[in-house]
Amino acid sequence: MPAKPKSGELAQARSKTAQARTAKAGGSKRAAAVKRVSKGTASAILDILCRTYPDADCELTFASDFQLLIAVILSAQCTDVTVNKVTPYLFKRFPTAKKLAEAPLAEIKEIIKPTGFFNTKAANIQACAQALVTEFGGTVPATLAELTKLPGVGRKTANVVLGVVHKIPGWTVDTHVQRLSKRLGFTENACPHKIEQDLEDIFPQQDWSKLSITIIWHGRRCCYARRPNCAACPVNQLCPASTVKAF
Ligand code: SF4
Repeated sequence: MPAKPKSGELAQARSKTAQARTAKAGGSKRAAAVKRVSKGTASAILDILCRTYPDADCELTFASDFQLLIAVILSAQCTDVTVNKVTPYLFKRFPTAKKLAEAPLAEIKEIIKPTGFFNTKAANIQACAQALVTEFGGTVPATLAELTKLPGVGRKTANVVLGVVHKIPGWTVDTHVQRLSKRLGFTENACPHKIEQDLEDIFPQQDWSKLSITIIWHGRRCCYARRPNCAACPVNQLCPASTVKAF
């Protein structure tokens, strides 16, 4: 059972929610003028982005599928840079699912504190580790159905693990993929699961994981939530939300 956030975390959560509303309001105005692009244009956009970021890859540091799974859970509402600062110490102290399952919860909280929402995240990663031990012999399962039964693991987290570790294609519909999919005209939906279905309809299955990480890289490096850098964007002549070219 995930722990309830404490007052400090609640204040942080409210602040983030207010920020998200502000960003969403700006995004809505942008999205309101955006129309769906054709499959041909969508492919052309991602061809350009794939050539722009040929080395796009998961930016979390990990040494095993277990470590990646825990790192992805910790990355919710947090940057990969911050996660990469805490996980070396976390995994040195608790390198396996069994060690993390048996760890003092207070110590886990202290280590992962910089990632935010640490009470909830600590409870989730320990519950996840305990489930791995009791249900999978301490190993990480390799199917979406099994992964999403683990505490703290949704489709997004599961698809990262499946794509990065097992090379099983899947969409990682995180905040960047949600935002850019709307701006680029790949979807008109707001629900992550519906966005995932729209993306699955447009792009070939074997490319899903690669395209996810490419979109995430573009969101982190150019198409920012608040002030997308359309002037410097390599797809500004194809993007229906571009402020550079009038559509
Ligand atoms: S043109 Fe602007 S809105 Fe479109 S993808 Fe590029 S940065 Fe984002």
